[in-house]
Amino acid sequence: MQDLSANIPAASPNAFVTLLTNDAYLPGAVALIRSLNLTKTGADIVILHTEGVAAEALFPLSEMGARLVKTALLDVSNEFRETHRRDKLHAAAPFTKGRKPDFHTPLANFCKLRLWQLTEYENIVFLDADTIVIQNIDVLFEYPEYSAAPNVYESLSDFHRLNSGVFAAKPSQKTFEAMMIALDKPGIFWPRTDQTFLQSYFPNWHGLPVFFNMLQYVWFNLPELWDWKSVKVIHYQYEKPWEADHARSELLRPLTELWQAYYEGRDIPNMADLPLPMVEN
Ligand code: UDP
Ligand code: MN
Repeated sequence: MQDLSANIPAASPNAFVTLLTNDAYLPGAVALIRSLNLTKTGADIVILHTEGVAAEALFPLSEMGARLVKTALLDVSNEFRETHRRDKLHAAAPFTKGRKPDFHTPLANFCKLRLWQLTEYENIVFLDADTIVIQNIDVLFEYPEYSAAPNVYESLSDFHRLNSGVFAAKPSQKTFEAMMIALDKPGIFWPRTDQTFLQSYFPNWHGLPVFFNMLQYVWFNLPELWDWKSVKVIHYQYEKPWEADHARSELLRPLTELWQAYYEGRDIPNMADLPLPMVEN
């Protein structure tokens, strides 16, 4: 079976890839593509999408220079599908630290693994659609598989886990097939979906500096860590900047405004002029 089809050929051995399985993440992709274009990257920008995204909705993304690659959700067992259904997953492994938007479908996350099938590329840097790249990160194409930043947004114990919103990988059909065997086994449950799986599949993952995947909650939980000169990628995990008036809108306003500037095509403020989070003494 032909799993993937693209609108144009690859133009570089390197690609930034994001995933879209429904229209709800489109605003994220628009801001992300614009942010990558502003870094003057030499790499391809690929939207890996399923048929859940309307063709008219994808057109503006290709106009912005993105390559569109159509794929299908993973072919998983019924049992796997059941265990990872949104309501079941939320009941079995509740999100106590932040809120996931209603449009977030946990099962869709696993589709990220399809990037290992993009063997027209030598090096891939995956970025969630809820990230923006504020400084050039092409250097990540030189990093080994599997490189990711720790899932830091609350405390030191966060360093035990990786965050799968930004990572460097090397496509290989062989790896993809091995992953499919490891992923879907009787009785298996991946509480944080692809993230838990990737950490298990690559137990010796290479650690990137946190600045390559700065999680938005750092802004209010670990403000001492925020340093605009160092931050390269902001990741709007949990509540999304395109959700109207979510629970943490007030707390995250400066970060949301920065995202909006990318999304709306406005001038991007100088880093030196950006506010800093409040640090309590
Ligand atoms: N995603 C998607 N459709 C979904 C859920 C996720 O396309 O229903 C993609 C999208 O690129 C998103 C990523 O998978 O950014 C991971 O989900 P999300 O960023 O919402 O998770 P979080 O970072 O909040 O853990
Ligand atoms: Mn994300």
